[in-house]
Amino acid sequence: MKLIILDRDGVINQDRKDFVKSADEWIALPGSLAAIARLSQAGWKVVVASNQSGIARGLFDMAALTAMHNKLRKELAALGGAVDAFFLCPHGPDDGCVCRKPLPGLFHDIARRYDVSLDGVPAVGDSLRDLQASVQAGCRPWLVRTGNGEKTAASPELPPGTEIRDDLAAVVDALLEA
Ligand SMILES: [Mg+2]
Ligand SMILES: [Zn+2]
Repeated sequence: MKLIILDRDGVINQDRKDFVKSADEWIALPGSLAAIARLSQAGWKVVVASNQSGIARGLFDMAALTAMHNKLRKELAALGGAVDAFFLCPHGPDDGCVCRKPLPGLFHDIARRYDVSLDGVPAVGDSLRDLQASVQAGCRPWLVRTGNGEKTAASPELPPGTEIRDDLAAVVDALLEA
């Protein structure tokens, strides 16, 4: 099985400093959904692993999150793509959960759900914590320069071997060429 794990905000859609709180505020980045559709059509299973502490902060509820993901799914389906599943951490930074990235809990959930090892599975993120969580689970980290990515690219803590591309479309180009 060809599996890829994507962060959401700053990778698939525009991030916002005040959190993406509704379907109206969920706006795809240029080319991101077409890139996911190319993966789907090439037989990849695409899953999303996302911190959504806005839930714990009371900024939006699960119904709003579902509405955002329904919008994503609808726009993606129109391009011939699909997300297989969303793995979400709804907790806040002080909740002591094991799923909030940079901890690898969401990645371990994905490994269990699909009954696979994540060794070498590509994981795409725009923040350091995405990359840190993914390498702890054995994934191969890919950094995009969208969202927080430009800042992240300059970090001295970037995990060794991190591949850097301009955006998700460029990551998909590299994966489909390989
Ligand atoms: Mg992000
Ligand atoms: Zn959590």
